[in-house]
Amino acid sequence: MCSGRVDLSFILRAFLDGMDGVFVAGCRLNECNYTTQGNYYALSMSLLCKKILEHLGLSPERLRAEFMSSAEGIRFAQVVSEFSKQVGGLGPLGQSEGLDREEIKDRLTQAIRLVPYIKITEKEKLGLRLADLKEYENLYTAEEIEKLFTEAPSYYIDPEKCQACMICARRCPADAIEGGKSTIHVIDQDKCIKCGTCYEVCPSRFAAVQKIVGEPVPPPIPEEQRTIVRKAKK
Ligand code: SF4
Ligand code: SF4
Repeated sequence: MCSGRVDLSFILRAFLDGMDGVFVAGCRLNECNYTTQGNYYALSMSLLCKKILEHLGLSPERLRAEFMSSAEGIRFAQVVSEFSKQVGGLGPLGQSEGLDREEIKDRLTQAIRLVPYIKITEKEKLGLRLADLKEYENLYTAEEIEKLFTEAPSYYIDPEKCQACMICARRCPADAIEGGKSTIHVIDQDKCIKCGTCYEVCPSRFAAVQKIVGEPVPPPIPEEQRTIVRKAKK
């Protein structure tokens, strides 16, 4: 219904599913029917996605976002035909980039896992509505995108400190924390979307959640060692 609904993960997933090009079409900028102006979000998100594709070694020319009205049928046909030719010229995904299918799959899968973190980090820029469209050209820098990938944090629960209060597991939006009453909690790194909620909500008197950047996450404590034995009060 609205181009603002087109999420970063939709585009990356389309490439992961083997699409050679993705075209995002939205209503003309400043002519949104609603106050949300979702097409500005689509514009910013597409520019961010182009930079991400570049970072992954894929041609940003494989993604195009255009904004036009339903009365502009001729323009729509021209733009789509131009884009089809462009993508045709690039060939199947990976061909012009010199990457094989498995390598592309790995890179895209890694990027998709980071989407929630990327959206949180770039929240302000994604929400911008700049009057001068030229300002969008340099909205995202290559260094900034590099940082998104190299400085993405991981979260780890220190088994020595966790008191199994269960607050983090209840608040985790990705259901990525295993644990229960009297059981040391453990983060499933494959499910974690790096939102940082567990780090924020773990009571300061326990401070059991660690934020790790640039280092490997320690392996989870074995299941048979997770039970907390509490001393009875006298
Ligand atoms: S950072 Fe913590 S709260 Fe957020 S998804 Fe990962 S485990 Fe869950
Ligand atoms: S909030 Fe902290 S102490 Fe409580 S279960 Fe989670 S990691 Fe353990």
